[in-house]
Amino acid sequence: MRRPRFDKKKIADFALSLLVLAGTLCLAWMGLTEKRTLPASASPGITLGDIPDDACVIIIDAGHGGFDGGAVGTETGAIEAELNLSIAKTLADELTKSGFYVIMTRSGDGALGDTKSEDMKARGEIIGLERADAVVSIHINKFRDRTVSGPMVFYMKGSEAGKSLADSIMFSLCEKLGRAPRYTNPEDLFVLRVPKAPSVLIECGFLSNAADEALLVTPEHRENIAKAAAEGIKNYFAQMKSGDPR
Ligand SMILES: [Zn+2]
Repeated sequence: MRRPRFDKKKIADFALSLLVLAGTLCLAWMGLTEKRTLPASASPGITLGDIPDDACVIIIDAGHGGFDGGAVGTETGAIEAELNLSIAKTLADELTKSGFYVIMTRSGDGALGDTKSEDMKARGEIIGLERADAVVSIHINKFRDRTVSGPMVFYMKGSEAGKSLADSIMFSLCEKLGRAPRYTNPEDLFVLRVPKAPSVLIECGFLSNAADEALLVTPEHRENIAKAAAEGIKNYFAQMKSGDPR
């Protein structure tokens, strides 16, 4: 009769599965605790635990910042990152006044990291928050054909909710800025792909177009853009509420 002997491979497999389980539990715990805080660059002083359960949370991403200034105005040398932040802040104020809960990827001039990849990683952590109901990224365009002008709104290709949000914002922008209606555009960009919530990228005009640039450097025009975007976002959520009983 053979004596039962320890099967070394089975013991090793068992030990390994225990390790994997412990690791998984640890990661799950870290995930839970991580949800309570926001990366340092995001709206200082806010933790996710502060957000009421029934709040509608909008994440606003002011494009670029710090070492990455984005596009530069041909006539005035205006820096896209600064104009983006000014529009993003007014948009945040408008939405907050209307009862939305706003989280910003950056509220100061700096980037979110020392390199582009660090910046994108930190931005991705914020725009990818599960608690988001929508993500809005603010940019200003530049194009070699200097006659091209006006706002453009992009949404993640294939996202119906993203398209509805983009259409609603575009409608408000064209109405408020007195421009002819314009289609929105599907795209596959980092800031559109990462969020689970409907996400849009608003290009507020073209710094390569003299007329757009002259407007974009005025606070009044940037305020008009922010107010129109806020209107479009509010209308989108009002439609969702009335049309979708969830
Ligand atoms: Zn940009």
